[in-house]
Amino acid sequence: MKKVIWSIVLCFVFNNSVYAKDYAKIQIREMEKAQKYSTTDRYYADYTEDNVFNKNIKDPKLIHLGGYSTIEQSKLNAKNAADNLIYSKIKSALCGKKADDYNVQAYGADFYKVYRIAEKIIRANNLDFMNWRIVFSKDNSFNAYSSETNCITIHAGAFDSLSANDDAIALLIGHEMAHSILGHQVRAAKYMHKIDSFPEDSALRAIAIKAYVSDSKKMEYAADTEGARLAVKAGYDLSKAKETLSFIYTMSNDSEFSYTHPTGKHRLENYAESRKYFMEDEMKKQGVYNIYKSEVLKPRLSSDRKSLVIEKNTAKTQAEAYRTETPVDLYTRYAYKSYLNGEFEKAEEYFSKLLELDRKNPVAYLYFSYTEECLYKKTGKKKYLDNAKTFVNYAQKLAPSDKHIQEQVDAL
Ligand SMILES: [Zn+2]
Repeated sequence: MKKVIWSIVLCFVFNNSVYAKDYAKIQIREMEKAQKYSTTDRYYADYTEDNVFNKNIKDPKLIHLGGYSTIEQSKLNAKNAADNLIYSKIKSALCGKKADDYNVQAYGADFYKVYRIAEKIIRANNLDFMNWRIVFSKDNSFNAYSSETNCITIHAGAFDSLSANDDAIALLIGHEMAHSILGHQVRAAKYMHKIDSFPEDSALRAIAIKAYVSDSKKMEYAADTEGARLAVKAGYDLSKAKETLSFIYTMSNDSEFSYTHPTGKHRLENYAESRKYFMEDEMKKQGVYNIYKSEVLKPRLSSDRKSLVIEKNTAKTQAEAYRTETPVDLYTRYAYKSYLNGEFEKAEEYFSKLLELDRKNPVAYLYFSYTEECLYKKTGKKKYLDNAKTFVNYAQKLAPSDKHIQEQVDAL
């Protein structure tokens, strides 16, 4: 009997050590996989504000985006105080309702939260020339989508994952609004119509589907970039929108989703790359100006009492409504940020494109001259020095008394 017990004990000890050894190996292998697949730190590592800024390069800060003028702080404060008074009334009206009033449970506070974020994005971007609609779906999956009637549907699964983070919600709403304002639903519907016009299993149908899938991915990149711009103009911080970025990465593993969407890795690369050329301070100033010039947009429950309508500003004229970015603004920020990022060849290309559109711009000629000077210092090629002199001379003809231009003439 003693012998049997002894062998059982031995066996237990032996097995235990084997399990422990294997268990450690499993942990190590799993940690290695986690390094590869983790949706946390790794995938926003590159997504940081204003990467390279070379302090040695010349920048008298003369480049600005159009579309705003600076408002006195006291006037801004007065306007914000007046707006906040209206918001507090809206808040008590929305949050004071009984759950039964909504047909959906306890959505008052959630409505208010999403209303404030969406309304801020709408006003900051002059999108208040039309009504917007927010629908809360009870669906527990993480998703959101928009329709051509400016209706944004947010699943409970998405809202509940993001609800503590306004920046993340803003990035999600911005993306969906971007689909609407860039006309993506109409573009997609045209593909659907075309696909349906061919017989099932036909080669032409397969070609039409392929064309749709490829274009759909381009639309996602565009909505990501434009959506991020909408959120930045409303004052939201993209660096803090980590839950949305993490979601985008995670969703790319879903085969149905990844059929029409680029991979998460590519979408995050597109975010980081696009953002390298944002002029975020300038964009925020445009947003502050647009909010100052607009009035609080009132929410109301929709006729089916399941969604929230954010009413348009009826006084808005066509001329004041949202416009996609002008080519001049786009080339301005690409040229300027390429220069600041030390990408001088790119800056050279974008400054020439900008000057083709805006020939009488002395500031652009001055920065073109700085760029060529940097290229001269980098390569030692004399042609860049000659270019630098030529461009600063153009600048001086356009603005003879400018001191920064005179300094550059003297420096060269
Ligand atoms: Zn999308």
